[in-house]
Amino acid sequence: MKVCVIGAGVIGCATAYTLQKAGHEVTVVDAASAAGTETSFANGGQLSYSYVEPFASPSTFFSLPRYLFGASSPVRFRLQADTRQWLWGARFLWACRRKRTLAGTNALLALAQESRAALESWMNEGELAFNFARNGKLVLCPDARVLASQAAQVAAQAHAGVRQELLNRDECVAREPALRHYASRFAGGVWTPTECVGDSHLYCQALEGAARARGARFVYGSEVRRIVQRHGRARAAVTAAGEVEADAFVLCAGVGGRGLAASLGERLPIYPIKGYSVTLAMRPDSPPPTVSVTDLSRKMVLAPLGGRLRVAAMAEVVGYSRDVPSERVDQMLDAVETIYPGLCLREDTAPWAGLRPATPDSVPIVRRSRVPNAVLNLGHGGLGFTLAAGSAMRVAHLLGEPARDCA
Ligand SMILES: Cc1cc2nc3c(=O)[nH]c(=O)nc-3n(C[C@H](O)[C@H](O)[C@H](O)COP(=O)(O)OP(=O)(O)OC[C@H]3O[C@@H](n4cnc5c(N)ncnc54)[C@H](O)[C@@H]3O)c2cc1C
Repeated sequence: MKVCVIGAGVIGCATAYTLQKAGHEVTVVDAASAAGTETSFANGGQLSYSYVEPFASPSTFFSLPRYLFGASSPVRFRLQADTRQWLWGARFLWACRRKRTLAGTNALLALAQESRAALESWMNEGELAFNFARNGKLVLCPDARVLASQAAQVAAQAHAGVRQELLNRDECVAREPALRHYASRFAGGVWTPTECVGDSHLYCQALEGAARARGARFVYGSEVRRIVQRHGRARAAVTAAGEVEADAFVLCAGVGGRGLAASLGERLPIYPIKGYSVTLAMRPDSPPPTVSVTDLSRKMVLAPLGGRLRVAAMAEVVGYSRDVPSERVDQMLDAVETIYPGLCLREDTAPWAGLRPATPDSVPIVRRSRVPNAVLNLGHGGLGFTLAAGSAMRVAHLLGEPARDCA
């Protein structure tokens, strides 16, 4: 079957690779100039299979006043003249109920486990190189209250077979000695030994290369304006250069997916949550950190990645701008100096901003659309790198089934 995949971020590249391997004839169309240059470019690099708590949670809800009015808060909300933002915000608040958070956690855990299994099998085939490392993840909790809420999450996830340990402060420092100067700033943490890291951009390139080697086509610099339908089925993706016809379409367009899905009669609750990263060289005379660290108080991840330190942070609901304010970069660099004093060089920081395509409850939308031969693979929020492989397998499963009208 001829399949047109729209979007060559990590979700589109994993989908194209999976479908081409499954015997389909895949064409990927992307508005950008190469694979993985939008949100998938310089994310936190964590393959976070076990630590998947949705952003909307009771603890986020109760922290909102502090987050929203703190001068240098990692979370920011700026009201836009955009009803999509208001509706998304209302649904986000509704998703903060404990019941919804638990349901979201379970849905994300299931997809994450499928992703882990898929990636393991792809890695065994030996064609994907992307600075992958299994170095475990340590989540630092600033105080006893946050530690207690994390303990509840660990207990809930234990029922799903997830292996995690609660550590006190000294045990955290024993796990990651580079944290010794920062020990007075956290009460303890959650250690997940099975988590991994990798470079999402290299992953996209590796998936693209492997898909191309099997015959997939990638068309860049081509924005899809809409999908045209004939007789109730999607027939072509319309670009400025002409139409790309196919038997089936998969929307993997990240934050651009919402507008495209409208041409299929779908109103999707996807809105950008903006974040930033810097990628830093480490001084050769300082022992580098070995594990991936998340600092909950700063909403920051610090991952050793191919000899450098990738630092990603912030969650801003502020519209679609991708600008990188110097104040946010300084905030991240100052935080790195506090957490790992003297470790990193401050020049050549590669500052970057990305828009997480977020649903209110953090659960991605992977299903057939109202038009039966068009599939949605969208809304992966802060976990797209982690969930790409499992989502791609679900899409392959959907396309393998006989099309049925879901309208
Ligand atoms: C600061 C930050 C840190 C993060 N850290 C992590 C992490 O540690 N672990 C993790 O798992 N995830 C992380 N994420 C989330 C992850 O990066 C995203 O979930 C993921 O990149 C989304 O991938 P995507 O393919 O859906 O979107 P994108 O990478 O944005 O790709 C979408 C593609 O679609 C194309 N497109 C859009 N509209 C059109 C159109 N109309 N026509 C043609 N092409 C179109 C775009 O050009 C783009 O190439 C982080 C995100 C941020 C911002």
